[in-house]
Formats: sequence, structure tokens, C-alpha cells
Amino acid sequence: MTNLQQLGWTALREQDWTALPEGMKQKSLPGRVTLEHKRMYRVITEEGEWLSVCSGTMEHMASERRDFPAVGDWVAVEKMPGEQRGIIHSLLPRTSLFSRKSAGMTITEQIIASNVNIVFLVMSLNQDFNERRLERYLIASYDSGALPVILLTKKDLCAEAEVFIEKAQRIAPGTDIIAVSNHTGEGLDEVQAILQNGKTAALLGSSGVGKSSLTNALLDDGKMEIQDIREDDAKGRHTTTHRELLLLPHGGILIDTPGMREFQLWDQGDSLDASFQDIDQLAHSCKFSDCQHKKEPGCAVQTAIAEGILPAERYDSYLKLQRELAFLEKKLKQSEAKERKTQKKVTHKKR
Ligand code: GDP
Ligand code: ZN
Repeated sequence: MTNLQQLGWTALREQDWTALPEGMKQKSLPGRVTLEHKRMYRVITEEGEWLSVCSGTMEHMASERRDFPAVGDWVAVEKMPGEQRGIIHSLLPRTSLFSRKSAGMTITEQIIASNVNIVFLVMSLNQDFNERRLERYLIASYDSGALPVILLTKKDLCAEAEVFIEKAQRIAPGTDIIAVSNHTGEGLDEVQAILQNGKTAALLGSSGVGKSSLTNALLDDGKMEIQDIREDDAKGRHTTTHRELLLLPHGGILIDTPGMREFQLWDQGDSLDASFQDIDQLAHSCKFSDCQHKKEPGCAVQTAIAEGILPAERYDSYLKLQRELAFLEKKLKQSEAKERKTQKKVTHKKR
């Protein structure tokens, strides 16, 4: 039987639980969402795993996507007597959140995963190693509130891992970097060590870098099947689904949602400065506080580029990200304005 600590429960969650209304605590148990599908949730508790829906009250109070549970969330869930089903009464506060706002006709938010402690930024030690991509991943993880750890895979294929490790160090000073081989097993102990004490991790990386291989290695190869869930669907057919929150046999939890794999850079805001600390630092030494780092006299950024201290491509990618963020912000504002307009129309009609 799984206990709450194995699922990632901490003293902080206990505090949040204590703050729930007495009546709710009496009838519910703490549970963690392992799968989400069309407003149905698989919730794992100390007493079993139940297919659950939100209570009417909760649905009624919810106004946006974030008010509903997502994979990784902690909830208060009540078991329905005699059934392997549950009702979710409350969502406990999140400590981190991966979400994506897609700007189409309107902005819709997709929640990818919540309560992730560590995000492994996965790149392979070959053609896939890309400094600009690493910067994007860093931004995404800072923005979610999770701690990034850089994982460089396929070490068995690379004779000069040190070169890449140094490159990664320059981009992310102070971030842990682990070189691994999913084939020889080198470095996997270090990865496992990071996941001790019920830490929850997610993997961010392009296709083909070895995320599935790593997942299987951490699952002790083959244990993944055991985590399949068999259930009868509404029409009585047997179906098999995969949990998207995996309990690792040697401790720790891995979140692997399809959305995590498609994660893009969206809605990043403040985190730009965090992953471009070097440029930020330089900017402090510019002569003018409102320096645009173009042709101003005494610009420390341009001086650093001229002296070869700051690679010009790195500065370019900083500018590119700024432009992308500005574009997204504009799009968000347009869409909000449009939404307000539509709402107005609806109110008119009602009268
Ligand atoms: P994913 O798309 O990120 O899940 O990548 P996969 O785990 O499916 O791996 C893609 C390919 O790379 C497969 O052929 C794996 O066997 C191979 N691969 C993954 N990790 C390693 C590694 O550490 N070393 C080597 N040599 N090959 C690897
Ligand atoms: Zn400047």
C-alpha cells in the first residue's frame, strides 16, 4: 500500500489540509491526481485509487481552468460507498504549475502538470545539444516554480562530455548538471538520489533524447506495465490507461503527461532575467540606467560583446525572447479585449 509520503506529501501539505473545513476533512482523504481526462480524474490515496469527479459545489465555484484539478494536484477526495469512485471536494494550494496559454482566436490555458519539484531539462550529448533551447527550458522551469536540473543523455556516444557540461554551466551557473547513459546506466544513481524523499520530477526535452529510456530505467525496466489501470468505461468495455504520475520503485515520482512533451515557451514574463543573469548583471554597469544596449555610450553589454566576453548569439537570443514575449503579451491583450466585447454582447441579448 502506498503511503502519503511516497506520493510526495509534506509538512506544508499537512498544513493546507488542516486548514480545510472540519466537515470536509471528516468525510475525505488526501489524494493525488494521477490522470485527467475530460473532467474525470484518477486520484490515488492511501486507501486506493478512484475515478473521481468534482463536487457540484466545486464545479460551481470554478471560474477558469486553473480552478480544476490537473495531474500532480493534491485534492480532498471522498470515496463513494461500495464503489471504486470518488468525489473531489477541494483542491489544495499548488507549489508549482506548468501551464501553457495558446493564443488562437481566444486564449485558452492548458494545464500540463502541477506540484513538480524538479524539472529535468533533457538534452543528448550530440546534435541535440542546443544552448538556445537550454535557455528556453530554463525559463520554462523557473516560471513554473520548479527547480531545474540539466540532464545530458547518451554519454556512451560522446567522447567529449566535458565540453558540453562546460557550455551548460556557462548558461546556467549554479544549476546541477548530470551526464547519463541510459544504456550503460552511468549517472542514473545521481538522478535517483535527487528524487529521494518523495520528490516529484518532470522531464522536458525534445523527442529522441532518451526520456522514455530514462523513465524505463528509473522504473527498473518493465515495471511501467504494472502501473496500467484497467477499468470499465461507461459502456462496460474494458479499457487500459496509463497513469501520468508514476511512482518510482526506489522513491520519487515522475510526471509524464503528453502536454509536458509538447511544452513550449509561452507566457514567461519575469523569468527572462533569471536565465540571462549575465546580461542582467552587465546591464547594471551601463552608463545610463535606461540603456537600450544599442549604440548608447558606456554600454557594458555592447562592450562585453566587442571584447568577446558575451557571445553575440547569446545576446541575440535574449533579444529574440524579448520580442516573442512582447508579441504574446500583445496577443493576450487583444484576446482579452475581444472577450470583454463578446461578454457585453451577451449581456445585451439577455435584456
Ligand atoms: P524520447 O523520445 O525522448 O522518449 O527518447 P527515447 O527514450 O525513445 O530514445 C530515443 C532513441 O535513443 C532510442 O533508440 C534509444 O535507444 C536511444 N537512447 C536513449 N538513451 C540513450 C543513451 O543514453 N545512449 C544511447 N546510446 N542511446 C540512447
Ligand atoms: Zn547598455
